Amino acid sequence: MVKIENLLRENIKNLSPYSSARSEYVGEEGIFLDANENSIGSTVPENLNRYPDPLQQNLKKKIAELKNVQPEEIFLGNGSDEAIDLLIRAFCNPGKDRIITLVPTYGMYKVSAAINNVEVLEVELNPDFTIDLSRLKAAYSKGAKLLFICTPNNPTGNIIDEKDIIAIVESFQGIVVVDEAYIDFAPGKSSAPLINRYSNLVILQTFSKAWGLANIRLGMAFSSKKLVQVLNNIKPPYNINGPTQRVAFYALLNEQWMASMVRTIISERELMLTALSRLKSVIKVYPSEANFLLVKFHDPGNVFQFLIKNKVIVRNRAKDKHCEGCLRITIGSHEDNKLLLEKLKAFERQNSKMDKGKLIKDNL
Ligand SMILES: *Cc1c(COP(=O)(O)O)cnc(C)c1O
Repeated sequence: MVKIENLLRENIKNLSPYSSARSEYVGEEGIFLDANENSIGSTVPENLNRYPDPLQQNLKKKIAELKNVQPEEIFLGNGSDEAIDLLIRAFCNPGKDRIITLVPTYGMYKVSAAINNVEVLEVELNPDFTIDLSRLKAAYSKGAKLLFICTPNNPTGNIIDEKDIIAIVESFQGIVVVDEAYIDFAPGKSSAPLINRYSNLVILQTFSKAWGLANIRLGMAFSSKKLVQVLNNIKPPYNINGPTQRVAFYALLNEQWMASMVRTIISERELMLTALSRLKSVIKVYPSEANFLLVKFHDPGNVFQFLIKNKVIVRNRAKDKHCEGCLRITIGSHEDNKLLLEKLKAFERQNSKMDKGKLIKDNL
């Protein structure tokens, strides 16, 4: 059993957290002269003059019902990116401790680690983007505090087998962070129920993808009460603003709306998988359980530039491990997707003209 206390940085373990103005008084009514707010009103029609609930209790109650966890097992961050940063800061001493990532993967783990002067041990995934457990376990000996697993993985789109996740949580003597940003596109495959069995497991989810709320910046972490308490102690007191808390609360009443958008996106993804696979410029489309496709092209650089010139923006992942030639393409609306296919066909026509031109020149 991994003990969180033994992994935390000394200064975090000994921290006396900021106690916000309203933490000594429970109740919504009263004359609040404790927080130096403007008691007259706001400069907009909506009343935004009071600080929001620092522990987001209404919202957490709602999330707890949906996710089948307790409110005290939920941490909310300004995007899951905030949770990633706080986890690194809670456990990793700058210039000393390390994290493990499985590459290719989401870029923020590395950036957050670099900001905190924390070294990253990058363990390669297999060419089919599954985890090589023996290679991963060989990296344990270097004493990392955190290990990030992304599932479905960004930018590859594949789900990591839960058997592998369990094997890792049971063998790694640190905190395992499972980033499930895209899990709503793979219903029933979340590892969140495992937090009851493993105190060193953290599950990250977000409102930015399937819920369609990237703009409000809200991410969730599910973990043991002890670990959630640590994150609450070190977060900025009012990290989730009031409008965000309210919008997310109402969104949770519309779970069916989210599910129906997910179904639309998945059916578009399958159409795009077939259509892209048929293109001459495409070598391969990787299967995906997320809202994007990783596509290997013969000439990714020129495809990317051609699309940009036509105001279609995709992500170039060709420099990532095992992603030679690959662009990552988000599934758009039906119209977006049709337009993308048209542009790719235009690219192919232009290129075959160029090839013919080149042939003629070569034969002169
Ligand atoms: C998009 C994404 C996130 C989401 O970050 P937010 O800060 O919640 O918007 C987290 N992890 C991965 C792997 C992502 O692709």
